Amino acid sequence: MATGSGSVIWFRKGLRVHDNPALEYASKGSEFLYPVFVIDPHYMESDPYAFSPGSSRSGVNRIRFLLESLKDLDSNLKKLGSRLLVLKGEPGEVMVRCLQEWKVKRLCFEYDTDPYYQALDFKVKDYASSSGVEIFSPVSHTLFNPSYIIEKNGGKPPLSYQSFLKIAGEPSCAKSELVMSYTSLPPIGNVGNLGVSEVPTLEELGYIDDEQAESTPFRGGESEALKRLNKSISDKAWVANFEKPKGDPSAFLKPATTVLSPYLKFGCLSSRYFYQCLQTIYKDAKKHTSPPVSLLGQLLWREFFYTTAFGTPNFDKMKGNRICKQIPWNEDQVMLAAWRDGKTGYPWIDAIMVQLLKWGWMHHLARHCVACFLTRGDLFVHWEQGRDVFERLLIDSDWAINNGNWMWLSCSSFFYQYNRIYSPISFGKKYDPDGKYIRHFLPVLKDMPKQYIYEPWTAPLSVQTKAKCIVGKDYPKPMVLHDSASKECKRKMGETYAMNKKMNGYVGDEDLRDLRRKLQNDDESKIRNQRPKLN
Ligand code: FAD
Repeated sequence: MATGSGSVIWFRKGLRVHDNPALEYASKGSEFLYPVFVIDPHYMESDPYAFSPGSSRSGVNRIRFLLESLKDLDSNLKKLGSRLLVLKGEPGEVMVRCLQEWKVKRLCFEYDTDPYYQALDFKVKDYASSSGVEIFSPVSHTLFNPSYIIEKNGGKPPLSYQSFLKIAGEPSCAKSELVMSYTSLPPIGNVGNLGVSEVPTLEELGYIDDEQAESTPFRGGESEALKRLNKSISDKAWVANFEKPKGDPSAFLKPATTVLSPYLKFGCLSSRYFYQCLQTIYKDAKKHTSPPVSLLGQLLWREFFYTTAFGTPNFDKMKGNRICKQIPWNEDQVMLAAWRDGKTGYPWIDAIMVQLLKWGWMHHLARHCVACFLTRGDLFVHWEQGRDVFERLLIDSDWAINNGNWMWLSCSSFFYQYNRIYSPISFGKKYDPDGKYIRHFLPVLKDMPKQYIYEPWTAPLSVQTKAKCIVGKDYPKPMVLHDSASKECKRKMGETYAMNKKMNGYVGDEDLRDLRRKLQNDDESKIRNQRPKLN
């Protein structure tokens, strides 16, 4: 039984000191405080067979970002007379051992809606309560508690952004005072023999830190998050006039949006503090933009997806997901690999995928373009396969937001205008006619004249030779002809929507198999053979 006067604060997301109610409660009236982070092999074990450096679930960029965030948290805790205790192993087992060894009275951790944590927390809570340890698990990763919104909506999550806004109203954090700092924290108690270590380096985790290779320019941690937030909100006019679809997706030296997503993902930045900062600016502004396009509106998209994800069984699958249209996607591994590796032959698409591989972050509209291309736009590959690539490589990879947006972009849910397809040629050109973005991420095309940069296969051979880039040798030929591929995709989507309508959404495996067979008869080989004529 718990007899001690210590508390554990178990960090998972919420890697911050500011506005952290679990930390606040754990430190109150405790003689000792044990701040713990568990290195989970499920996420962190290096996988030499993965398609890029990293573990099977995460690219090395996100692992580095996490380690930087932990280092920063440790340093912020040290300033308050504490430190981070890093342990390794299956988190459930490790936490049970901690509770047994330290005999604490309280276990505090931020509530997490992701299925992985729901299952894990169930086990840990079960053990803790049977041992008389008090559990405190507040909702502080989001502005709203998704359960309350679902309850207010009669037990189902609202499925449109507008209905979400109406039901959600104002979050309670709008008026509450957030605890942003401490003068000190209780000391660490005796840690015993649990194998507590310092925050490991990438090398200590078995990764090779290739300093020569271009990697993400975004550094992890609470200090960096607050710096980045302050920089964004110091330009009050920019915040007041922020209008999402108007940003330039090709701007990479100075991105058109805040790039706060990885900090929100790991909880290095409190979304509630971000919300309060925005409200202060709006109050003083003569006029400002509104949701869905405003910066506050972006934060509310995050809330929307968290709520729908939490209230929808099998949210991350097409099968058994009642809000997801059943579509006979193909699972062509060759097409998927070409897309994933930035080898589709469309420079705009390939540059975005290389930015993902190297940086782990791309602008929202760039994500739109590549997700549309892979699914309903050109290749008709299953959204779950694209989702997996994003999930592994993004530094802001977020279970609810990523799945929600993939369903959106593939017209599987939320958005249904499948005739609106992004052109892999003209869309990027609008923003970046010189192709600076392409030249940076695809240096093989750096000397291609501007008039051919989006369609290098149309350049005469003499031009390709001069640019030291022969299409088909140095850079791939386009894998599909966009005009006909997109037409085919629209036809397939049309037939599929008609079937979903006819069956009232109840499309079985057999129906899907039949439709796939029917569509395939006049499809795949035709698209592959229709390559554009090359010089
Ligand atoms: P800003 O425009 O500055 O917005 C501020 C914050 O609002 C973001 O940090 C983010 O937390 C939130 N936000 C913005 N747009 C969205 C959106 N559409 N949905 C939900 N929240 C939003 N975002 C992730 O955080 N993780 C993901 O795994 C992810 N996967 C995506 C997959 C696809 C296919 C697409 C199209 C979008 C995805 N997004 C994801 C949403 C969006 O692209 C990013 O949140 C945004 O580009 C991050 O950049 P930012 O922080 O500069 O955004």
